[in-house]
Amino acid sequence: QDVTNKIAAGEIIVAPVHALKELIENAVDAGSTSLEVLVKEGGLKLLQITDNGHGINKDDLPILCERFTTSKLKAFEDLMSISTYGFRGEALASISHIAHLSVTTKTKDSTCAYRARYEGGRLAPAKPGQSADPKPVAGRQGTQITVEDLFYNVPTRRRAFRSASEEYNKILDMVGRYAVHCDGVAFSCKKHGEAGTTISTQSASSTVDRIRQIYGGTVANEVIEFKSANEQWGFKANGWTTNANYHVKKTTLLLFINHRSVESTNIRKAIESTYSTFLPKGGHPFTYLTLEIDPQRVDVNVHPTKREVNFLNEDEIIDAICNTIRIKLANVDT
Ligand code: ADP
Ligand code: MG
Repeated sequence: QDVTNKIAAGEIIVAPVHALKELIENAVDAGSTSLEVLVKEGGLKLLQITDNGHGINKDDLPILCERFTTSKLKAFEDLMSISTYGFRGEALASISHIAHLSVTTKTKDSTCAYRARYEGGRLAPAKPGQSADPKPVAGRQGTQITVEDLFYNVPTRRRAFRSASEEYNKILDMVGRYAVHCDGVAFSCKKHGEAGTTISTQSASSTVDRIRQIYGGTVANEVIEFKSANEQWGFKANGWTTNANYHVKKTTLLLFINHRSVESTNIRKAIESTYSTFLPKGGHPFTYLTLEIDPQRVDVNVHPTKREVNFLNEDEIIDAICNTIRIKLANVDT
C-alpha cells in the first residue's frame, strides 16, 4: 500500500517545481493576495510557501493529506474542471508520501493557528511519543506549507538531480509565470539564508508592469495586448506579446489554460512560425497567453508531469489567435 502510494506520488511530483506548482495553485485558489516562496537547495531541502488566503479549518486537518481530499468538488461544473486540472485532491497527499510535510494554518474565525505534520498521508507527531493532533500555535490568517527533504525515501529520484541551481531556476520560472498571471497577487521568491528576493511583485501592478518586472531584461520595449474569442469553439484568449526579443535564445511562452500553467507544443510552434515573418534574424517571441476553454473541451488524458494539453478545435483556435497576433505585429515596428 505504502509503496504503491509512493510510486504514484513520484509520478505526479517528479521535481521540486512540480510540488511548488501545486502549492502555488492551492494558495491562489484560497483567495490569497500575497504569496511568499522560500527555497533551500533547489527545493530538495526546503520548499516553503506562505499565503494569506482563507486558511484550512482545524477539523479538516486530519484528512488533509488523504488521497482525493478536496474542498473543490462542489458543483457539477467543478467536476468538469477535473479535465483541466488533470487530477484532484492528490497534490498534498502525494507530497506527504515523498517528503516531510507540515502545515500551519489559520482561518478568519479561529482564535489561533494550528500546526500539523504529515507522513504518508496521515497526521504524524512532531516528535516520537507525542500526539499527532494539530497543535495550537500563534499565527496570522492564511496557510504556510513546509516541504522538507523531498524524495528522502526515493533515493533513485534524489540521485537524479544534478544541480540545485538548475532546480531553483525551474522554480523561479514557475513563480515568474504565476506572478505574471495572477492579477492582484503579490509574489516573492527567495533562497533560504540569502538576503534579497529573486522575484518580487506588487499586488496592485498591471500585467504589463509585471511582465516588465519579471522579464524586463529580456523583453523589448513594446508590449502589445491582443484578444481573440469564439463562442462556437468555446474559447476566450487574452494575450500580451512583444515585438522583438533579442536577448534570449528561445521563445518565451507563458501559457495558461483555465488559470493553470500548461504547455502546448502546437501553440508554441504556431506562435514561432507567426513571428518568423516579422522578426529579424536572431529575435525570439515573448508571449504570455491566457486561454479560457470550456473544460469539457480540454483533453483529460494528459499526464500530470507532462503538462501538455490538447483541446477540441485546436487548429481553429490556434489559427484565430495567431491571426490576431499577426494583425497586431503588422502594425508595430519590429
Ligand atoms: P486540490 O487542490 O485538488 O483540492 P490538494 O491536495 O492540492 O487538492 O489540496 C487539498 C485541499 O487542501 C484543497 O482542496 C484545499 O481545501 C486545502 N488546501 C490546500 N492548500 C491550501 C491553502 N494554501 N489554503 C487553503 N486551503 C488549502
Ligand atoms: Mg491543489
